[in-house]
Amino acid sequence: MLSNYTRSAQALADLLAREGVEDKQVLSAIATIPRHIFIDDVLKHKAYQNTALPIGQGQTISQPYIVARMTELLRLAGVRDKVLEIGTGSGYQTAVLAKNFTKVCSVERIKALQWQAKRRLHKLDLYNVTMKHGDGWQGWQSQAPFEGIIVTAAASHVPQALLEQLADGGVMIAPIGNDQQQLIMVVREDNKFTQHVIAPVRFVPLVPGDIE
Ligand code: SAH
Repeated sequence: MLSNYTRSAQALADLLAREGVEDKQVLSAIATIPRHIFIDDVLKHKAYQNTALPIGQGQTISQPYIVARMTELLRLAGVRDKVLEIGTGSGYQTAVLAKNFTKVCSVERIKALQWQAKRRLHKLDLYNVTMKHGDGWQGWQSQAPFEGIIVTAAASHVPQALLEQLADGGVMIAPIGNDQQQLIMVVREDNKFTQHVIAPVRFVPLVPGDIE
């Protein structure tokens, strides 16, 4: 089983490299993290395919290509240290981040998903991750500032709290929009925020307000 999974994860990393992901540390994270432990039993046979899959509660584990690409965009921008993830979900993206940055803080609004993700990361001995059950629109004020912020659910507009929690020189990657979504990158220099559009994307919505 172990060698089966390492072969499949390596094949997935090779596929992402062919699709244009270049960062060696990102590809190494994809090649070594067992994605099948982040997926329900009935769908495990699809774990190493380059597709998003349902994880319950109406949510999805993101497509491996987009996980790798968003992580690579932060690294290309020079981010290495402390990052904030909004939307822990299955915890797979969190694990990829944990292997690429010194410290990861991750916020999830659905408690059941957050607990499950926490157990999975401990199983993988990833201890540089701190998780919080809360509303991602508010970011994580007490842990700010962050060199990098990655949002894994689509917000109708850029959340103001997240801009405020970016470090000077920091970079945020987020899908913005409702039916039509664009992946954007926001770079902070002093109090000037520059926005770049990366590509059209499709994410579940960043739900406003209350947490479950
Ligand atoms: N990166 C995750 C993506 C999960 S889908 C993965 O690959 O598994 C997006 C996640 O964002 C869901 O788990 C959803 O519950 C969460 N989410 C949605 N709105 C949120 C909010 N306002 N605050 C925090 N998390 C939110």
